[in-house]
Amino acid sequence: MNKTYYFDNNATTQVDKRVLQAMLPYFSEKYSNPSSIYMGAQAARGDIDLARKQVAELLNADSSEIVFTSGGTESDNTAVKGVASALKEKGNHIITSQIEHPAVLYPCKYLQLNGYDVTFLPVDRYGLVDPDEVKKAVRKDTILITIMYANNETGIIEPIEEIGKIAQEHGINFHTDAVQAVGKLPVDVKKLNVNFLSLSAHKIYGPKGMGALYIKNDSKCLPLIQGGHHEKHRRAGTENVAGIIGLGKACEIVKKESSSYCKKIKSLRKKLKSMLLSSIPDIKINEHPEKALCNTLNISIKGIQSQDALIMFDQKGFCLSAGSACSTGVPEPSHVLKALNFPDSLINGTLRISLGKFNTEKEITLFSKTLSRIIKKLRA
Ligand code: PLP
Repeated sequence: MNKTYYFDNNATTQVDKRVLQAMLPYFSEKYSNPSSIYMGAQAARGDIDLARKQVAELLNADSSEIVFTSGGTESDNTAVKGVASALKEKGNHIITSQIEHPAVLYPCKYLQLNGYDVTFLPVDRYGLVDPDEVKKAVRKDTILITIMYANNETGIIEPIEEIGKIAQEHGINFHTDAVQAVGKLPVDVKKLNVNFLSLSAHKIYGPKGMGALYIKNDSKCLPLIQGGHHEKHRRAGTENVAGIIGLGKACEIVKKESSSYCKKIKSLRKKLKSMLLSSIPDIKINEHPEKALCNTLNISIKGIQSQDALIMFDQKGFCLSAGSACSTGVPEPSHVLKALNFPDSLINGTLRISLGKFNTEKEITLFSKTLSRIIKKLRA
């Protein structure tokens, strides 16, 4: 296989070898069901408890507040639908933003179809939600505010702490989708004033199909998945033990190492940005001057179709994303860039580069040269 240059770390990340090593025994000798009573099973239960502690420590939460899920999507769905059903006697109004991930937007739209009232707040040209707009949108019957911590497409960082304070002052539950923030920003649930927080293992060098939802102890939320008594009745189903161990290990590594690898990623991003600006005419960097994730570079290039660029990049072994998703054969412009009022012509020429801890300076230089060549060809 040809060498792959991976610049799509907001889509997923390579599993850290230490995470893989920690997981492997749970597929072979340590395969007991943690709900059984024999010793091997109880050992697995103990290992799950340790992983829960590792996740809790990263978030400054208590272990009892961590519920394991199948990923960011399930965590988001649980928070949105679980709070809505638990509090439906209290009210039926939810506040969210137009740039949320589909894992929040679609449950909100589903609730809308089922009698709930949802306010989808607009954002400014960078994608920022204005806390004053949140305050204005609050009503007597508001039961949930859900705003993401950082956006997966543009890397904008939302004012979560401020919005959390507003929610707290009004006694409203606050959920944040922190799937893209964990491992890149400090995530302290107490400081952020959140009742619910979603995270995903595969965005932090852990396994796919694994995530967690932080539920502040006294916060009401009905389970999305019903069945057995697992996760203290908050999420039924035999535990994905290997996945849980992997998530725990990934969180432990984030806690110890993320401030140092984020520094490296930030400097790679800076270098890449300056190389692109100096070598490609008519390029626009879509970023907030201060509130940008250390790893995400969203760029719009005049006179190209990003889908064509992606194919040419792929032929050279480069993986990255576009500002439009092509799931049906016809590229759909990104709802995030649309909310930022980008014209379709600009969205169609948008690329998302998302760096990770395994990227190197050499790869950055190679990427920049390759992009230059591709743009020349496409514009010709
Ligand atoms: N939320 C955000 C912001 C994301 O970027 C993603 C994945 O891209 C998700 C939620 C969904 O997470 P998962 O892939 O673990 O279901």
